[in-house]
Amino acid sequence: MTTRSPVVTVVGSINADLSAVVQRHPSPGETLHGTGGEITPGGKGANQAVAAAKLGGTVRMVGAVGTDANSEPALLELRAAGVDLTAVDEVPGPTGLAIITVDAAGENTIIVVPGANGAMDAARVTAARAAVEGAAVVISQGEIPRDGIEAIPGLVPTDARFLLNPAPVLNLERSVVLAADPLVVNEHEAQLVADQFGIASSGATAACTALLTAGVRSIVLTLGADGAVVMEHGSDSVSIPAVTVTAVDTTGAGDAFIGALALKLADGDPLVDAARFAARVGAYAVTGRGAQTSYPSAGDDLPA
Ligand code: ADP
Repeated sequence: MTTRSPVVTVVGSINADLSAVVQRHPSPGETLHGTGGEITPGGKGANQAVAAAKLGGTVRMVGAVGTDANSEPALLELRAAGVDLTAVDEVPGPTGLAIITVDAAGENTIIVVPGANGAMDAARVTAARAAVEGAAVVISQGEIPRDGIEAIPGLVPTDARFLLNPAPVLNLERSVVLAADPLVVNEHEAQLVADQFGIASSGATAACTALLTAGVRSIVLTLGADGAVVMEHGSDSVSIPAVTVTAVDTTGAGDAFIGALALKLADGDPLVDAARFAARVGAYAVTGRGAQTSYPSAGDDLPA
């Protein structure tokens, strides 16, 4: 029996998202007028932490912001959701920044300036050991330096789960991918991780099957509006149908899914049950604009 409290610790990125809406994207050297200009909180790590906390989880964030004016808007929803920010460092220089332009057709371009997220190396992650050690689930993504992510499995308690979401896919040590339980990937990421394992596969499902054979303990493959597939060693794969909703903005849906998944795993739910709940939360998130602002709170009606 574990007596560990159901804490979710997220080791990852914190960004300010600066968004502009343009009729069309500018050509090199061209200046265009746009609208928007809001700065909203983002970064995959922060998104996942906010998702779990808004749903009622006890969540700790391990990350870094800069010394500029963007740090406060970046932390806004994390603070509002009650995420423990004791292990968020302030480092000289800019906060992570995503510069997003969306044209009239809904196509976007995104420039990510890592800023303070680039300071999340192995030494800084290891210094946050206390935030990781008490957790039931520890999550990381691909928006901090590779050696920072590689330092996490050694800190995760043996009775806790390491949820790895390699987005974007970095060339991580194989042992780090094998420590994931689960590995959460979309179709594109599944194929890239399989490539790194030297697996030639046709399609994301085949890539995941091969990764399980290579020793990955469990995988959740997310398929957007087609739902998700849960694959675990020794069990048949289980398809999780998407919940049918009218999508308004899919930004951050994957992060909402992961935050919800981690919350349920921390509560001790089996992976399949946690994924069914996460699919409802992901569907809720696509019905609202933005990332963190579109996430449900505990008590909100989730689509079924
Ligand atoms: P990512 O953004 O990481 O590529 P996905 O697009 O696969 O992630 O979305 C994650 C999850 O969110 C999906 O598995 C699904 O459960 C839910 N989801 C995403 N888009 C939709 C949609 N249009 N309708 C319903 N659910 C969705």
